[in-house]
Amino acid sequence: MEIKTICVVGAGLMGQQIALLGALSGFAVNCCDINEEALGKAKEFADGWLAKQLSKEKITENQAKQAKEGLRFISVMAEAAKDADMVIEAAVEDVVVKRRIFAELDRIAPPHAILATNSSYLVSSKIADATQRPDKVLNMHFFNPALLMKTVEVVKGPHVSEETVEAVMAVSRALGKTPARVNKEIYGFLCNRVFSAITKEACYMLDQGIASIEDIDNAIKGALGHPLGPLELLDLTGIDLEYHLGMERFRETGNLADKPSPSLVERYARGDYGRKTGKGYYDYSKK
Ligand code: NAD
Repeated sequence: MEIKTICVVGAGLMGQQIALLGALSGFAVNCCDINEEALGKAKEFADGWLAKQLSKEKITENQAKQAKEGLRFISVMAEAAKDADMVIEAAVEDVVVKRRIFAELDRIAPPHAILATNSSYLVSSKIADATQRPDKVLNMHFFNPALLMKTVEVVKGPHVSEETVEAVMAVSRALGKTPARVNKEIYGFLCNRVFSAITKEACYMLDQGIASIEDIDNAIKGALGHPLGPLELLDLTGIDLEYHLGMERFRETGNLADKPSPSLVERYARGDYGRKTGKGYYDYSKK
């Protein structure tokens, strides 16, 4: 299956990077969003990023020009997806919204098109039956910052065909990534499962007064060789995202241990979501 044109649905933090990465890797990319402002910001981001890479001589004039020509920002999904060989959905983490998007994509996109979701935790079997092509619906999970992080998780749910998995593994490699094939659907996939276990312990130690924010992060960086501590990483990925994921997991399992920790709930309630709001476990307002 040859994939030349990719449609990215959602031009937020992840979508804008995935779209630019696709264009830089030689794909024709149509990026869409229901919010015109988000679409404008995504274009600004792409222009700024390309200019910066160019000034640092990390890309050539030709590469920047080709990426710009290959990347279109379109407000109507029907227009953006109509010629796509593959769609990567990076809209909000809400199963109802994602099912609605996939049902619509199924009507719009060509019959051969693969429909992938970048969802952090929702397995594609919760979405695939909203379409008539479940064998072509799967999780393709990037990490933030998607332009730089090497790993992409490709998840083979029970409904996904081998051909679809192979095609998405090949696209991931063409995007310069090292895909990790996950053979079964599992909550949190591979990396977020491990990340959740570490952050849960870090939050527990903070809540119990066992160690300070700085000591927890510095110890993990120094001893385990992680570039960021778990609390710094929560600030980067978003305390709101982690809160919603924890609550959703708790609603599913009823297990109190799955509830977000008090330190996370407290920050979420104050609107301190991390770097994006200027404050989370750390204060970024003066940086
Ligand atoms: P975001 O809030 O920055 O962006 C989401 C975008 O989707 C917004 O611009 C919104 O306007 C748009 N949108 C909402 N409904 C839409 C629709 N019906 N059609 C088109 N666009 C629509 O979110 P994000 O952080 O980029 O996350 C996007 C997805 O990627 C989520 O599923 C999230 O779980 C996943 N993800 C996030 C991260 C991360 O670190 N933030 C990492 C990996 C995966």
